[in-house]
Amino acid sequence: MLTNVIFASSNDHKTQELKQIFKGYLTLDNLKSKGFNQEIIEDGSSFIENSLIKCRTVFEKYQQPVLADDSGLCVTALKGRPGIHSARYGGAGLTDQQRYEQLLEELKKVKNKDYSASFVCALVLYFNPNRFYIIQEEVCGEIIFQPKGEQGFGYDPVFYLKQFAKTAAQLTAEEKNRISHRGKAAQKMLQLIKDL
Ligand code: IMP
Repeated sequence: MLTNVIFASSNDHKTQELKQIFKGYLTLDNLKSKGFNQEIIEDGSSFIENSLIKCRTVFEKYQQPVLADDSGLCVTALKGRPGIHSARYGGAGLTDQQRYEQLLEELKKVKNKDYSASFVCALVLYFNPNRFYIIQEEVCGEIIFQPKGEQGFGYDPVFYLKQFAKTAAQLTAEEKNRISHRGKAAQKMLQLIKDL
């Protein structure tokens, strides 16, 4: 049975990635299409807390099932940063490109040359305050200093995946969905939905 769910995000890239995975099981309306423009204060200290904050805020308004993700890039040489601050890293108003350039600049300055990194995604399917499901996943890669690729968004052009010999921005949408942090979390969530 198809369940109508609000996806608590205005990010069209994420919405497209998730719509493709949940096709036939969930219909996803994102915050843009709902005309929701209230600011959500993500002041949690983990990806899971922030996903739950998004779910609670949107549920309070619509009293409808909500799907929310909180994700980010954790770089070893930066002790896990930018992590939960990935979206606003470097300050508000930067483009994706300015943000990853800022990251590369910071990385060049640190002594630790361990450029391994993970994209992390916490995904929550929230039916009501007493019933919700949480999955957190990661994909491991390495930060490279020569950005490559036009697909995807965010830090994808500098996130290199050895198994493909490509950056995340050089993968097709299907390839990225199969291996990405959000893709893996969503596939596990889909399994769970099928079992409900
Ligand atoms: P959120 O919307 O609060 O979860 O912010 C997540 C931020 O992490 C995004 O704005 C991106 O900067 C980064 N990010 C998360 N997932 C990805 C991805 O799949 N590719 C590239 N950057 C990502």
